[in-house]
Amino acid sequence: MISDIRVGQGFDIHRFGDEEGRALILGGVKFPGERSLIGHSDADVPAHAITDALLSALQLGDLGERFPDTDPQWAGANSIEMLRAVASEVVSLGWTIRNASVAIVCEQPKIAPARQEMQQNLGAACAAPVTVTGRRAEGLGAIGRVEGIACWATVVVTR
Ligand code: MG
Repeated sequence: MISDIRVGQGFDIHRFGDEEGRALILGGVKFPGERSLIGHSDADVPAHAITDALLSALQLGDLGERFPDTDPQWAGANSIEMLRAVASEVVSLGWTIRNASVAIVCEQPKIAPARQEMQQNLGAACAAPVTVTGRRAEGLGAIGRVEGIACWATVVVTR
């Protein structure tokens, strides 16, 4: 029987850059030929947003606290593994991750062709169903000017 339900909200945003040899990675999927994102880790925005949402749901701090961008340990880190680590911590605290939902807001790349693979990678990392949706910013603001990619995530956990 479920005695406790928590909701967590997460957000992340990264700026496009032109570092040579760096790939755009979203939800563990590589997008060859697309501009990559600047970040200390691999800058996987949806993975970061879901991780942040899990931490938020249980008052475990936030992503920046857990994986400081000043710590060389996380340089180029695989963010799917960061998500996996936080998800297993959540489970070890006696909680079940019910689902996660993440909206990726960007003008490029197109999200739909990679949606299934992203859902699979993110879902495997947190052992729960993950829904990925893609939205364009309709040319508005920084995201509309194709300066970066933003993500909003929500998770539900119960025990
Ligand atoms: Mg981030």
